[in-house]
Amino acid sequence: MIILNSKKALCDYRNSLEKKGARVGFVPTMGFLHEGHLSLVRIAKENADAAIVSIFVNPTQFAPNEDLEKYPRDIHRDITLLEEVYCDALYMPSNEDIYPAGFQTYVDVNEISKYFEGESRPTHFRGVSTVVSILFNQIRPHFSVFGQKDAQQARLIQQMVKDLSMNIDVIVAPIVREKNGLAMSSRNKYLTIKEREDASIIYRTLLEGAELIKQGWDNAPEICQILINHMKGAEGAKPEYIKIVDQVNFSETGKLQKGSNYIILAACRFGFTRLIDNLIVEN
Ligand code: AMP
Repeated sequence: MIILNSKKALCDYRNSLEKKGARVGFVPTMGFLHEGHLSLVRIAKENADAAIVSIFVNPTQFAPNEDLEKYPRDIHRDITLLEEVYCDALYMPSNEDIYPAGFQTYVDVNEISKYFEGESRPTHFRGVSTVVSILFNQIRPHFSVFGQKDAQQARLIQQMVKDLSMNIDVIVAPIVREKNGLAMSSRNKYLTIKEREDASIIYRTLLEGAELIKQGWDNAPEICQILINHMKGAEGAKPEYIKIVDQVNFSETGKLQKGSNYIILAACRFGFTRLIDNLIVEN
C-alpha cells in the first residue's frame, strides 16, 4: 500500500493513475478503523483498479464541545488493517492540505442537514459536506463508498453530488454490526464493557420498530413513542431521538404507506458516549 502523506504526494499518485486510465474508488474515513470501514474498502476494491482510503479527523465537523482532541487514533493498526484488505493507497492529509491559510469556502446542503443529526449537531454536516467536496476534488474518484451506518450523511452526500453535478457515483454499504447487534463505530471504544452490552438495546429497539410496521402499525409518531419508551426502560440508555423517515427523501412521515420503504433512525447516549444507528424497513 502506498502511503500519501501530503496533497502533493496524492497529486503525483493520482496523475500516475490517470495515465494508466485507472478507475479510482475512494473511501473517506476518520481512522481508528474497524470491520465496518473495511467492508467499504472491499467494495471499493471490487469496483476499482485503485482503492484510495483517506484518514483525516476533520475539525470542521466537530463542535467545540465535542471529542475532536480525544477522537481515537491508532495509525499503525489502521495501516496493518488496510494492507490486509489490499487497499492500494492511504491518503493522510495535514490540516493545511485540506484547509489552507485563508480558507473561506463551505458547502452547505441546506435541507437535509437541518434535522435529526443536524438538529443535535448544528455545524456537523456543513463540515462533512465541505471536507468531502475538498477530498473529492483532490482525489477525483470515479466512485466513493459510504456506510449506511451514517444514513443521513450518505443521503446528504448523494444530494450534494447531484446538486453540484459532481461526476461521482455514491455507493452506500450495509451496516456491519457486533455479534450483539451493536453497530460498529470508532466511538464504541469509549464504552465500558457493560455499556457495550447495554447498547445492544439500540438494535433490538430498531428491530422491534420493524416488527410493529410489519404487523401493520402505520402511525409513525406512535411507533416512535413506543420505541423511545422501550429504550428509556433499558439500563444505561438515554435516548435522544427515534424517528421514522421516508427512505427516498429522508423526511419524517406521519402515516406509513404500504409499498414505501422507511428508515428508523435512533440516537442514544450511554454514559458520555453518543451512538447512532438505523434500520431500513421495507413496508
Ligand atoms: P468515520 O470514520 O466514522 O467517518 O466513517 C467512515 C465511513 O465508514 C462512513 O461512510 C461511515 O458511514 C462508515 N461506517 C462507519 N461505521 C460503519 C459500520 N458499522 N458499517 C458500515 N459502514 C460504517
